[in-house]
Amino acid sequence: MSAYDIEISEVGPRDGLQSISTIMPTKDKIKWINALAAAGIPEIEVGSFVPAKVLPQLADTADLVDHAATLKNLNIAVLVPNFRGAQNALKTRPTKISIPFSVSETHSLRNVKRNHEQMLAEVKQIAEFIRTFPIDQRPKFEGGLATAFGCTLEGSISEDKVVSIAEALMEAGCDEVGLSDTTGSGNPAQVQRLVKKVWAAVGKQNLTGIHLHNTRGQGLANALAAVETGITTVDSSMGGIGGCPAAPGASGNIVTEDLVFMLESMGLKTGIDFEALFEARRILAEALPNEPLYGFTPDAGLPKGFQRAC
Ligand code: ZN
Repeated sequence: MSAYDIEISEVGPRDGLQSISTIMPTKDKIKWINALAAAGIPEIEVGSFVPAKVLPQLADTADLVDHAATLKNLNIAVLVPNFRGAQNALKTRPTKISIPFSVSETHSLRNVKRNHEQMLAEVKQIAEFIRTFPIDQRPKFEGGLATAFGCTLEGSISEDKVVSIAEALMEAGCDEVGLSDTTGSGNPAQVQRLVKKVWAAVGKQNLTGIHLHNTRGQGLANALAAVETGITTVDSSMGGIGGCPAAPGASGNIVTEDLVFMLESMGLKTGIDFEALFEARRILAEALPNEPLYGFTPDAGLPKGFQRAC
């Protein structure tokens, strides 16, 4: 059982940095990751094991996992697109690996050049590979239900399809599934409905996290809906970095600073210290001087007399 009511998983170093063309130097990423961990962020997705020619921004992921492993009380998450990525990931020691599985098969073919059957084969292969490691060295293996709330190519996504793929991922050997609003299409009612439907199929303990984008400004509302339904891990990125080319002015992921403010002011413990969080933002701003950082709380400051949840 977590010491916190809600666990924030900071995905900026992966989702944020992969969405911008600037390549952040490894030494700056390390400074940023140190500052995030020092602020009390319990989990950081430090990168993705994809070929450097595809995402040069994340070419240093192995080094970042190695570094993050020296930090205390930090879960280290990484993304892997396929078995090859998982093999590379397991040369390091992440505590969690996630594979994005697009519920939209069109998106899957476009994104990772594999249909559902081929993706399930990859998932099985990864699960078997993980089981060849001693128990204390096995990362948690999450199947991320990408485009679960809508797809830019296929449009709306059948909820029954999301549920059946969640079941298939668990059968293929995932430890858990996650719901992902890859395209920022979701709304709060849909979040609540889909969480409950997936729970009914795979069990509440096997879906604890949600990944949201703020493309249409619904990010915090969707996060609140998820938390009120009983989701306990929420992905977000500092400064909402990455943005969305299709929605100028919109942040990428939901903004960590605003999410933490919402939760803490509601009395929900995140374990995160605001002073230290704002310091991490300052380090990020310095490292990416030409990228916009989003979020309201850092600019407005905390309300007079604000107290963290305790
Ligand atoms: Zn994302």
